[in-house]
Amino acid sequence: MKKNHPETDAIRIQLERSDFMEHSAPVYLSSSFVFEDAEDMRASFAEEKDRILYSRYSNPNTSEWIEKVARMEGAEAGFAFASGMAAVYSTLAALLDSGDHILASRSVFGSTHTLLTQIFPKWNIDHSYFRFDRLEEAEALIRPNTRILYAESPTNPGVDILDLEALGKLAKKHGLLLVIDNCFATPYLQQPIRFGADLVIHSGTKLMDGQGRVLAGITVGSHDLIDRVYRFARITGPALSPFHAWLLSKSMETLPVRVDRHCDNALKVAEFLSAHPKVNWVKYPFLKSHPQYDLARKQMKAGGCVVAFEVAGGVEGGRTFFDHIRLLSLSANLGDTRSIVTHPASTTHSKLSAEERAESGITDGMVRISVGLEHPEDICADLGQALDHVGG
Ligand SMILES: *Cc1c(COP(=O)(O)O)cnc(C)c1O
Repeated sequence: MKKNHPETDAIRIQLERSDFMEHSAPVYLSSSFVFEDAEDMRASFAEEKDRILYSRYSNPNTSEWIEKVARMEGAEAGFAFASGMAAVYSTLAALLDSGDHILASRSVFGSTHTLLTQIFPKWNIDHSYFRFDRLEEAEALIRPNTRILYAESPTNPGVDILDLEALGKLAKKHGLLLVIDNCFATPYLQQPIRFGADLVIHSGTKLMDGQGRVLAGITVGSHDLIDRVYRFARITGPALSPFHAWLLSKSMETLPVRVDRHCDNALKVAEFLSAHPKVNWVKYPFLKSHPQYDLARKQMKAGGCVVAFEVAGGVEGGRTFFDHIRLLSLSANLGDTRSIVTHPASTTHSKLSAEERAESGITDGMVRISVGLEHPEDICADLGQALDHVGG
């Protein structure tokens, strides 16, 4: 039989039905699972059979969600975590040893930056950064002890695009593992494994749940690499709760339709802002003015839900804008049904020095909008009236 499209599998992959023949999967809020007899118990612990023992290791709901994400990403296996950062930390910690070096794009999520600069050095794991727009400089930063090449695309919050195919080739040439945080794109818009990524990480907190209710993370890749991640994670304990896995698995069923609408709305918001006199610049991957528009078109199906722009009038203009927002939420999350405006310089990226922010393309006046699923005219109307209050 012809293989289903990943969108179909995201709806139809399902746990085996119980005797009740339920249509929608139940939640398995069970910390442990029972053995039939002494031999079953021994063989299960000896890993002679693949079965669910204990929810820190695996759980039916978690397995269902993982299978859906792996299918959409074109991966063989995965492990689910209690947050996106648990996924980033555990994946890197599982694969790196003391004395290793990681080469990362400078434009990474704020907490990932802190992990690389403050946590990993405690175990003598060093890092170097390359600039997202100077990939040609990355090769010279590879050392004999470099093990991992790490990047996000589109980046948070600047929605800059990194060339995944070029990163894949660089990793292959030097025998590095390419790890991509694909959170902003979702597996529906972009599949980094197609371009040579070895492992793909997501914060499930964002578009995957999409409704602002869940904290979760996931890493997918080959059986061998995921087995290494699994062996680290089942001991250190960052597992996702079955209830949240259940929510996420249901959310995957609507991911493609939700993300399509997020992208349509975001493009409309980006076009609206581009024409507004109180806006200095706008960046959105599928806006023709984006410096890497062609690259975005090549590796993504659509532009995602995040639009970055700069309000005129510097810090004062920004404050006026935020204080006049009425409908949209002032919050630090993204990928929610509700549109959210954030000021990265004073929130998510406040731990970076001014110089580090500049290198990451974050200006003081930059605003990040996570465009939600409200009617786009209402989103634009709120942004417009808030911008009209900006002086100058
Ligand atoms: C939010 C985010 C994370 C961290 O996810 P949490 O679920 O908040 O721990 C990692 N990477 C990117 C790109 C993110 O946007």
